[in-house]
Amino acid sequence: MAHARPLVMKFGGTSVGTPEAMAQAVAIIRDAHQRWRPGGVVVVTSALAGVTDRLLRGVQAAARGEHDAVPQARAWLAERHRAMLEALIPPMERPALWGRIETLLETFAQLGWAMTVLGEVTPRALDAVAALGEQMSAPLLAAALRAQGVPATMVDAREIIVTDAHFGAAHPDEVASRERIRARLQPLLAQDQVVVVPGFIAATEDGVTTTLGRGGSDYSAALIGALLPAEEVWIWTDVDGVMSADPRLVPDAHTIPELSYREVAELAYFGAKVLHPKTIRPVIEANIPLRVRNTFHPEGPGTLIRQERAAVPGQIKALTVIWDLSMVTVEGRGMLGVPGVAARTFAAVASTDTSVLMITQASSEQSISFIIPRGRGPQVKAALEETFARELARKDIDRIHILAPVAIITVVGEGMRETPGVAGRIFGALGRAGINVIAIAQGASEVALSLVVAEDEAVDAVRALHPLTRDITRPA
Ligand code: ADP
Ligand code: ASP
Ligand code: MG
Repeated sequence: MAHARPLVMKFGGTSVGTPEAMAQAVAIIRDAHQRWRPGGVVVVTSALAGVTDRLLRGVQAAARGEHDAVPQARAWLAERHRAMLEALIPPMERPALWGRIETLLETFAQLGWAMTVLGEVTPRALDAVAALGEQMSAPLLAAALRAQGVPATMVDAREIIVTDAHFGAAHPDEVASRERIRARLQPLLAQDQVVVVPGFIAATEDGVTTTLGRGGSDYSAALIGALLPAEEVWIWTDVDGVMSADPRLVPDAHTIPELSYREVAELAYFGAKVLHPKTIRPVIEANIPLRVRNTFHPEGPGTLIRQERAAVPGQIKALTVIWDLSMVTVEGRGMLGVPGVAARTFAAVASTDTSVLMITQASSEQSISFIIPRGRGPQVKAALEETFARELARKDIDRIHILAPVAIITVVGEGMRETPGVAGRIFGALGRAGINVIAIAQGASEVALSLVVAEDEAVDAVRALHPLTRDITRPA
């Protein structure tokens, strides 16, 4: 079949993390390059597995005064990349590529030194460090492709993805990026080149390096896919697609053949690590199908994500968990009469720069509860106590209470919409397993229902609920 528009394929850290894995990625890309014509193939790559973590841990330790941390990390990083070079790159090409990697490692050493001296890390400097991993993996993958006879050119993402200066989770400027992506990639694709782009990294208009947030290579691929535009975006990872639950928690989790954009958006938002939560929006807007596939099992069909079609009533597709959270409750009988309590509560939370994952309010209006990352608990409690000092003194608000650690379990499926029995099945399964549900919330989209449980009951809760997803294997 002819493909007029390009295919964007993203390879995650484990998919390029060892010489064997990268060789497998090269084979997949070579095959796609043969088949995906005349549109051509754009490849987005992560850093080798573990590299981003190691870079960041290195400089954070340096800032705490641990002088050995960066040299040790540098040696480890050099060894990881050298092994790839020796396995995948012909001897003639190694010196130039090695020189490039050495320069990046030297930058790492210097940034680490600067942070030791300063005793602090700024978000901007952290992005400069985090971005080094993809700057090493992308030229390596391009060279490994050429070594197998695939014409490949690397294009630095910092030349084509323009973002604001929100370091650590920069926001792309789609208009500026679209123009550059097209101008830079289309001519190369027309020359039959596979274009290799480092994921995760970008730059401001002034050329300062930024990153799109941890796990952000998925987002890079979706953005490039939407702005080119591509015919499809494929995310190659280390599992057979989006599964009914994290396979590390539920060993008999199964791959879900098809999901709607909305379902996958809820899954990603509520903690399914397989896709970065921002990945979905660009592909929805451009209506581009997204596939999640296994680099180590490429013959599998994976998961296809696209606009929803008729949902199966009552069908639950998947479960996710977010760990390490706190539930904050503002409660008091006098709250009924106090105007603007909710607005003041969330203004106080916002002033601490904390994101709220979920909100519930009892119908009596005598309490508001919300969920935040556990580490933010003390700041949030202090901010609330300050905001409501008067109400607390007057006992209009009895207390501001933190329950921790808790987890949010989210049940996802388009079929849950307007299907009455689903909640009953969920609570029945949890009740039989003896699990206490602390709070509930349902999103406006009605494709997800979230439950708060004590963290030490979360694994049991997911395992108790997982049989409900089996419906999916029955024909509609
Ligand atoms: P990559 O490096 O390829 O981006 P990630 O580690 O970011 O890979 O994401 C893949 C991992 O996500 C899987 O190995 C799996 O453990 C985890 N995961 C969590 N929830 C799910 C889910 N519902 N379906 C598939 N994988 C999941
Ligand atoms: N390498 C980056 C990270 O580890 C981005 C990614 O892998 O998607 O967060
Ligand atoms: Mg990932």
